[in-house]
Amino acid sequence: MGDPRELVKNARWLGHASVMVKGSRTVYVDPWEVDATDPADVILVTHDHYDHLSPPDIAKLARKGTAIVATAPCRAKLNWAITLVEPGSRVTVNGVEVEAVPSYNPGKQFHPRKAGNVGYVFTVDGVRWYHAGDTDQIPEMKDIRADVAFLPVGGTYTMTAEEAAKAASMMQVKVVVPMHYAKIVGSLDDAERFAKLCSVPVVILEKT
Ligand code: ZN
Ligand code: ZN
Repeated sequence: MGDPRELVKNARWLGHASVMVKGSRTVYVDPWEVDATDPADVILVTHDHYDHLSPPDIAKLARKGTAIVATAPCRAKLNWAITLVEPGSRVTVNGVEVEAVPSYNPGKQFHPRKAGNVGYVFTVDGVRWYHAGDTDQIPEMKDIRADVAFLPVGGTYTMTAEEAAKAASMMQVKVVVPMHYAKIVGSLDDAERFAKLCSVPVVILEKT
């Protein structure tokens, strides 16, 4: 394959778990305290924790016609019409194919499986993107096929760098970008340790 940086050229890491993909459509995942202002075609929300579901950020990015995709527990905290998903859902919104996939902590209380939190696999201009949400390594990850995977590496509420490196090797992905560090939990050290350990090419994005 070519330069892994080439595959992620349409993505921005907006800090923490916030990601933006810009192609013929503009997709945000979990925008929280972001500086970006490009209007969203699609906003994907993985779960209802404040660092992932942020009504002020959604208000800043959403326009008439923006599709907001989220899980049932998010609904009460949002004043917008949403496209409701649960693990296993497949929807197409504003021309973007979206699959909601399981995301949970098997052995910790922060994100129990029964909460129905999700990660997302979505396609923009033929490139498949995976955003894992707040998750540990889980068996369902062996079914992930994507060009680029955003994986949490900050530990405590999610995988550590070591665990994320193991998780990446279960998936069929070409490039991994670490996230969920440098705010609340984790640091650039975790991202760099992850890059050293991971058998899949890693691109550490600077926050923009
Ligand atoms: Zn969370
Ligand atoms: Zn989180």
